[in-house]
Amino acid sequence: MKRKVLVIEGDGIGKEVIPEAVKLLTLLGDFEILKGDAGLECYRRCKEFLPRETLEKAEESDIILFGAVTSPKGVKDYKSPILTLRKTFNLYANVRPINNFGLLRLEGYLGKNKFLDVKNVDLVIIRENTEDLYVGFERELYDIAIADRVVSKKASERIVRFAFEYAKENKRKRVSCIHKANVLKVTDGLFLKTFYEVAKNYKIEADDYLVDSASYLLIKEPERFDIIVTTNMFGDILSDEASLLLGSLGLAPSANIGEKKALFEPVHGSAPDIAGKEIANPMAAILCVAMIFDYIGKKEKGNLIREAVKHCIEEGKVTKDLGGSLKTHEVAEEIIKYVTNYE
Ligand code: NAD
Repeated sequence: MKRKVLVIEGDGIGKEVIPEAVKLLTLLGDFEILKGDAGLECYRRCKEFLPRETLEKAEESDIILFGAVTSPKGVKDYKSPILTLRKTFNLYANVRPINNFGLLRLEGYLGKNKFLDVKNVDLVIIRENTEDLYVGFERELYDIAIADRVVSKKASERIVRFAFEYAKENKRKRVSCIHKANVLKVTDGLFLKTFYEVAKNYKIEADDYLVDSASYLLIKEPERFDIIVTTNMFGDILSDEASLLLGSLGLAPSANIGEKKALFEPVHGSAPDIAGKEIANPMAAILCVAMIFDYIGKKEKGNLIREAVKHCIEEGKVTKDLGGSLKTHEVAEEIIKYVTNYE
């Protein structure tokens, strides 16, 4: 039976990059594609950010490919569709590959004519998606605001094992645990202890860093890191920090993986500043498709897509964010051309 993929384009550049990614998905694989609505435009049409119909389609799908949605301003009780999907389907592992495909000089966030010299960065951040301070147990006691941090043995074991299995499958050498166990002795103490217990079962190097030191080293010596595993909030912050090493959010894909299904989404948002201009970089969305092929065990197809992206970057066949002049669909066409020649 064909695997079902629910495609949710969302808003802004989600509508531009996801259709290009779907071209790769259908070119290299045999999937049943469903379409779902979500986001701000959807809310304007039907007063829901994530309609029940989309949730039902997600339920019957094996895989979800999600673009990006614009967060509304001033809507009380807004629940992000992506958070709802992660929670509903218990997508406990967030995976963010940070691979700059050997690019050396990037004109990115630093501004025009300011370059960031980046070595060949190729690391993966694996973040626990269900616990930590993000469980939302917050309250006020007079003028004190309190948040509870939850770290369980079960969820820690699950994410650490996921990280080592990922390392094994992808022939990675080292897994580093990032924590703050010197201060958060109980919660991160448990996470760190669990990390080394699980590590004993694998012939893969294991080490650990304090989160403050890791955030410094991530920029200074990114080559130190191979696979990073960490708790929810540290992972959230570190993975956005690490995106800087890519020079553009247009190169950052991600996956949210659960026991039964997985959701893939480019890290970037709906980018209203460039939406409709045909200059959005489709590579992050296309790299999500590579991750989908990895997920279903067709790693050779995932690798082919990554090779095609690398080729386009080397040849300067890129959008404006990476210093090129191609339009969104032209980059996708170049990737498709490469893939078609080598398939
Ligand atoms: P953003 O990621 O949309 O954009 C940040 C900057 O990066 C912008 O200058 C944008 O032009 C650039 N950029 C992003 N993706 C790019 C691409 N593919 N190619 C070229 N340049 C790209 O973040 P933002 O501007 O802070 O957020 C815009 C909206 O998206 C907000 O409403 C935010 O809440 C939402 N958002 C949604 C998601 C999601 O749906 N998963 C994630 C992040 C932000």
